[in-house]
Amino acid sequence: MRALLLTDVGPQFDAAFSVPEVNPGEALLRVRCAGICATDLQLWDGYKGGFRGILGHEFVADVAAAPGNETWIGRRVVGEINVGCGHCDLCRRGGGKHCRRRSSVGIINHHGAFSDYVTLPVVNLHLVPDNVDDESAVFVEPLAAALQLLEQIQLRPTDRVYVLGDGRLGLLVAQVLAQTVAEVTALGRNDNKLAILSERNISTRRVDQAEVLDVLLAQPADVVVEVTGSPDGFVTGLNLVRPGGILAQKTTLAAKIPEFDLNRIVVDEITLIGSRCGPFEPALRLLSAGKVAVKPLINARYPLEEGVAALHHARRKGVLKVLIDVNK
Ligand SMILES: [Zn+2]
Ligand SMILES: [Zn+2]
Repeated sequence: MRALLLTDVGPQFDAAFSVPEVNPGEALLRVRCAGICATDLQLWDGYKGGFRGILGHEFVADVAAAPGNETWIGRRVVGEINVGCGHCDLCRRGGGKHCRRRSSVGIINHHGAFSDYVTLPVVNLHLVPDNVDDESAVFVEPLAAALQLLEQIQLRPTDRVYVLGDGRLGLLVAQVLAQTVAEVTALGRNDNKLAILSERNISTRRVDQAEVLDVLLAQPADVVVEVTGSPDGFVTGLNLVRPGGILAQKTTLAAKIPEFDLNRIVVDEITLIGSRCGPFEPALRLLSAGKVAVKPLINARYPLEEGVAALHHARRKGVLKVLIDVNK
């Protein structure tokens, strides 16, 4: 099968990779379409200590085989990416997401979806409603990650929320939180990206102007969600939270964050929350109900054979989502 691999010398296309074996309880998925995420670019930069294998964890696929679960065959699905061992203390308590021996599709010990086929346990699969097309379904995984914030933070309708970062995930986070909270302001550096939100009546500010930042610092937020993907974002985010407020760190980084004042967290009693993968079903419901705009985030589409070029494109400044059409 065709596959886009991350190797020691960077991403490479392989036209003759072996189709993965499918075990009982698993499904063999024929990938329709996949999306490039910041995490893919971080992995390329060395995050997670060197994943090697097929990249890709945002995808929609058809079930091609499912030994023991044949009713799934032919269904169009998206899949949760974490696979736990299933019997350790952490798996029993909260599912496989935090299992020490977990694999994650396209991230840890599990080949990803930038390929003709990928495998996943059947329990990880979710049916895609007919009115959600392939290109929208690719956004279920990052949208679920945005929704995870609502699982973790008790937001009040009157809270002031800053979403720091106008990248792929930031635009989804701002839209999700604006469903619950009236005063969501997205802080970014790119007018075209921020316009996607202002068109949906979400307020936006440019933070690359010192005077704007001063105004914001004088009006700190109850909750700041840090989604810049840059090491400085954490420090800026910390400065923008009010005493007693919450800073939610949403993006992982290949680089270390710069020095920051730990006393700010202690003295001002700031709650620091790390936030990763989230629930798929509400993400599918939001897309099915048309509550979140994802199509304006798509900048380019590439065939799988041109996956290396697609990754380079995703890295360019100002680019949001690049899709890989695998079997359309
Ligand atoms: Zn991702
Ligand atoms: Zn486990």
